[in-house]
Amino acid sequence: MAEPLRVASIIEHAAKWHSDTEIVSRLPEGGMHRYTYAAANQRSQQLAQALLALGIENGDRVGTLAWNTHRHFELYYGVAGIGAVCHTINPRLFPEQLVYIINHAEDRLLFFDLTFLPLVERLASVCPSVEKWVLMAGPEHLPKESVMPGLCSYEDLLAAQSGGYAWPSFDENTACSLCYTSGTTDQPKGVLYSHRSTVLHAMGISFPDSLGCSSADVIMPVVPMFHVNAWGLPYAAPLNGSKLVLPGAGMDSASLFELMENEGVTFSAGVPTIWLALLQFMRDGHRTFRTLRRTVVGGSSCPPALMKAFVEELNVTITHAWGMTETSPLGTGSRLKANQQHLPAEEKAAILAKQGRAVFGIDMKIVGDDGQELPHDGVAFGDLLVRGPWVVRDYFRSPTPGELTGDGWFRTGDVATIDPDGFMQITDRSKDVIKSGGEWISSIDLENLAVAHPAVAEAAVIGVPSAKWSERPLLVVVRRPGLDVSAEEMLAFFKGKVAKFCEPDAVEFVEQLPHTATGKILKTQLRKDFAGYSVA
Ligand code: ADP
Repeated sequence: MAEPLRVASIIEHAAKWHSDTEIVSRLPEGGMHRYTYAAANQRSQQLAQALLALGIENGDRVGTLAWNTHRHFELYYGVAGIGAVCHTINPRLFPEQLVYIINHAEDRLLFFDLTFLPLVERLASVCPSVEKWVLMAGPEHLPKESVMPGLCSYEDLLAAQSGGYAWPSFDENTACSLCYTSGTTDQPKGVLYSHRSTVLHAMGISFPDSLGCSSADVIMPVVPMFHVNAWGLPYAAPLNGSKLVLPGAGMDSASLFELMENEGVTFSAGVPTIWLALLQFMRDGHRTFRTLRRTVVGGSSCPPALMKAFVEELNVTITHAWGMTETSPLGTGSRLKANQQHLPAEEKAAILAKQGRAVFGIDMKIVGDDGQELPHDGVAFGDLLVRGPWVVRDYFRSPTPGELTGDGWFRTGDVATIDPDGFMQITDRSKDVIKSGGEWISSIDLENLAVAHPAVAEAAVIGVPSAKWSERPLLVVVRRPGLDVSAEEMLAFFKGKVAKFCEPDAVEFVEQLPHTATGKILKTQLRKDFAGYSVA
């Protein structure tokens, strides 16, 4: 049957076949909220009716500045369900980037959590396309006085509607959501997802060798709904009938742990920083998880030391995954194949530390400088190219259509190897790779090693000028509180663990490293901080 793939069909499915399964949220304004998929469908329909009453039409952008909560979930479905575009905005970006993004997208409405009231009060006067600002809370939280046009409360908007709304059918290639890249290496750029790409991606991440989601799971996305749709989990959870736990603004380890224990979370997902902090929290209090068994780590390279500690100390397996805003985001996940199950533990750990194999829906290849495809021998490295039904074609409102995929492939900007079993390993971002005397040094390999040192909380490696080698690695380290390690000890730690020419030349200690809005180390800033630094 030629049934179009629509985002609303996911919530319809969950409301019909998993009607009693819960969505539990920690609210940014305080307290917890708990309801079922049936009720979420009903409220998403009320929201859809409210949007139509406000004159929102097909293709209009509706912005959100919000944490992971049930209201944000309703926006995912209510906005997309009427054929409009849910534009999730990352509140951690610089205010000037936020203004740029909102104006570039021309958002007509902007929904925000109470936490962001002071922020939006500053944005309102410089975002002329926004006709109405909606506080995602009850009317009792509205400020007494406000400069924001049409300010109202989310709960008032919904209360005025009945919810008896039939989700319309339309072309599956209609846009449903929009996310801007976090501008780690450039200005933020908009990536528009379609109903088709979103549904296919949600199915793709549900496969057991991918993120893997089941109706027996209780899923807590720690990865935010404001960046790349929380890796698709707010779609995959209802698609599979998994209970969904949304942590709101409580991203600190204590709050996450409490929610995991209280709600019986079995599976979670987030960037390495979150898990490094949680590991420390668990160790400090000699804690164990009652139900958590799996977590997916991606967004930046997952240090093997972190994977080992989670399995051995906490009995939680980490699936390493790779992706980017432009790939919806999932591209690869690292799970052992049948022929690898009986390998020695160390070999298995080395395979699982790679970024993993392509899921169906993503094709990939690595190419050399001449554009020729490189062998899958796990040694040859080159630019990683991907293609598939959930890979970006053009940036939103980009001046040059087709530029990204002129030859049918999207250049990821990452440098990688692929081994004979199909496991891809990211060596570096092409802009971060260190070119030393004609050899390439992976900053990721060195960073992974550095954080395995017990006194290291966080580490980054950048290339600095060298008269002899043109560029050499500089290791920048944040020490763990109360622990000491000298530069000499740090350098000695690399001996015998990497090829001699890869060993860092120098170590600098800092109080903290600069991070992007998505928690990655901001290497562009670090290079500025160490401008003028050189080695022999
Ligand atoms: P931005 O491109 O704005 O930084 P993204 O979240 O889209 O935001 O980042 C995608 C990039 O993050 C990838 O191209 C890659 O460089 C890096 N990345 C994502 N997952 C991993 C991983 N598991 N290992 C190493 N790098 C990763």
